[in-house]
Amino acid sequence: MIVTEEIIAEKFAEYNIMYFNYELPTPRFGLLKSYRTCGYFSCKKEKGKRRVKQQQIDISVYYDWDEKDLRDIIVHEMVHYYLRYNHIDDNVSHGEAFHAMAKEMNEKYGLNITERVNTLNFKRAPNAPKISWFFAHYFG
Ligand SMILES: [Zn+2]
Repeated sequence: MIVTEEIIAEKFAEYNIMYFNYELPTPRFGLLKSYRTCGYFSCKKEKGKRRVKQQQIDISVYYDWDEKDLRDIIVHEMVHYYLRYNHIDDNVSHGEAFHAMAKEMNEKYGLNITERVNTLNFKRAPNAPKISWFFAHYFG
């Protein structure tokens, strides 16, 4: 499946209910052309305020996603979002809090949230540019 912003929005809404108790406000969604970065969460924080703003989740259109791999990538980004939103871990991207939450969700829901994923197993989108796999490091 090649993602669109609409597909990411649909999946986000579904997983927000299934895995996050519907706690996360809908962010903006965007598309990445990267083969290295499968997903990316970003947000801004107003100085002196606790509230985060301009939250955004980007997912790569480089791959023709398998349903489960896509789910794990989106939920991975949602874990970053959740930790930021609740100020559990504002600084470290894959710190203790991330690992603890990923482990708990993997056990509870049978997910496979990992710090990094091996993109060599992923199917390239038909119109994705050809790159040398030598450079295809992986990143979650
Ligand atoms: Zn991450």
